[in-house]
Amino acid sequence: MQLVVLGSGTSVPHQRRTSAAFWLETAAGSMLLDCSTDAPHRMARENLDWMNLAAVWISHLHLDHCAGLAPLLFGLKWAPGMNRREKPLMIYGCEGITKLLQAIDQSGNYKLFEQPFPVECQEFAPTEQPQQIQMLGGLDSWIISTPHRAESLAIKLKDPNGTMLVYSSDTGYSESLAEFARGVDLLILECSFYRDKPTPKHLELSEAMAIAKLARPQKLLLTHLYSEWDDVDLETEARKLWSGETIAAYDGLRFSIGW
Ligand SMILES: [Zn+2]
Ligand SMILES: [Zn+2]
Repeated sequence: MQLVVLGSGTSVPHQRRTSAAFWLETAAGSMLLDCSTDAPHRMARENLDWMNLAAVWISHLHLDHCAGLAPLLFGLKWAPGMNRREKPLMIYGCEGITKLLQAIDQSGNYKLFEQPFPVECQEFAPTEQPQQIQMLGGLDSWIISTPHRAESLAIKLKDPNGTMLVYSSDTGYSESLAEFARGVDLLILECSFYRDKPTPKHLELSEAMAIAKLARPQKLLLTHLYSEWDDVDLETEARKLWSGETIAAYDGLRFSIGW
């Protein structure tokens, strides 16, 4: 799998970090992990083949993770060449996505679902136990609820060659999440705050590294970084707490996982 970090930031505007979105190329096609408002233009900026995007995963309904969906559909509708596309665009994720999209659609009669190709939404209910789900063919997938919002889900993907990735999205501390991510090739984990976090619904560094210690991923990618990280060397601080490979996400970072 190939990963491109489109947005390593949060809902708060930042000079260098846009809000949450990741481009992932898998054996079953390309997908977005979360779709912030910035995501559609960030894909173009990174020269990615957005016209062939096969699927979008939405972790929860906070706007820094899903507000790009309607602009994405609106943009695809008017993009030259899209009238030749037949492959469906699949939108998978938490409960409430369809209602959100329909509300926007109806508010301006945008006809977001009237595209030359099918657009299909599939929602998954919260689950305290890992649950296998059907997504793009050839890609084994599992979900588990996270302590952030009622509908929040983390996702695990496994390529046919066995490469595994977990994307936590926003979460509070959870040993179930650590168990869910045990031994994966890449754990994309939020690390919103350095210390003294103002809410139990996000992680600070010590908690993110406690999850890493339990999960022991091959690689740990820390993301969803608020501006308090601007003056801190995240990777150095992380290494003091866990000796595994930890990478601080930044917009435009890309690397291969597994192959
Ligand atoms: Zn967020
Ligand atoms: Zn959130």
